[in-house]
Amino acid sequence: MAITEKLDRIGGNTALSTGSLPGAGTRFQRAVGIEDSPERLVADLRGLSGSHDADRLLEVLAEHSAEIVEWLADAMGVQLDIIVDYRHVAHSVPRLHAPTSRKGQDLADQMLAAVERRGIPLATSSPVRSLKRGSNGEITGAVTADPEGREASIRAKKIILCVNGFGASPKLVRAHCPEAADLMYVGAKGSEGEAILWGEELGARFGNLASAAASATRRSSPSPRSCSTVASRSAEPSL
Ligand SMILES: Cc1cc2nc3c(=O)[nH]c(=O)nc-3n(C[C@H](O)[C@H](O)[C@H](O)COP(=O)(O)OP(=O)(O)OC[C@H]3O[C@@H](n4cnc5c(N)ncnc54)[C@H](O)[C@@H]3O)c2cc1C
Repeated sequence: MAITEKLDRIGGNTALSTGSLPGAGTRFQRAVGIEDSPERLVADLRGLSGSHDADRLLEVLAEHSAEIVEWLADAMGVQLDIIVDYRHVAHSVPRLHAPTSRKGQDLADQMLAAVERRGIPLATSSPVRSLKRGSNGEITGAVTADPEGREASIRAKKIILCVNGFGASPKLVRAHCPEAADLMYVGAKGSEGEAILWGEELGARFGNLASAAASATRRSSPSPRSCSTVASRSAEPSL
């Protein structure tokens, strides 16, 4: 196993966020008397969003959400608390789990520490440029580049893409999510959507590309005239 990271440090949007992970039916919830289930999580979210392209994905994520939270805590040694003083949008019970600091950077640092303890090689400043394909079209590896632009080829039986969305690529946002094209992006700069281009080359079908989360925020000046509304967009691809 090996990990390559495009930027000079890992973290991405996870480090910028509050590091909050939804888990339905975790032991952390049971310990404080919260009754929850994957079915309840699906019903809550579907009640808000209605049916969409990634319906089955929602069910799979809900089914495994408690297991993932407990695995992060028990196997990866990530320190997580159940957040009881805040319920996320549409959540009918508290089910977000986060580091006590509520800093995504702490979540990322603790995961990085687990990677180091296991001796898993991690190459930073090594963007994946393309995927390699075998004669039957199967993915057989990836091509990465170092800061000097020298390319290296990695062979692998399995490649897991964890490259987030395409909010940092104005070109892709304009092409796939035009409604968000004029909003200010406040996320991680590594989210440039290369995986969409790789998927297109492979003939993958895409869904939900036009979905974006926007939030109104105020610039620091208290003067109403110079206050402007900006928004973040976090367009996520689903292959
Ligand atoms: C301010 C803020 C608030 C948020 N609030 C919420 C919220 O309330 N609820 C919610 O559900 N979500 C929220 N999010 C979104 C959530 O944080 C992200 O969806 C989540 O962290 C994404 O995790 P990830 O591992 O997929 O991607 P990331 O944490 O972004 O990691 C992807 C990594 O891949 C790297 N990478 C990209 N391309 C390549 C490449 N070609 N080669 C090598 N490496 C590459 C990136 O540099 C990055 O380090 C918020 C995000 C922000 C910024």
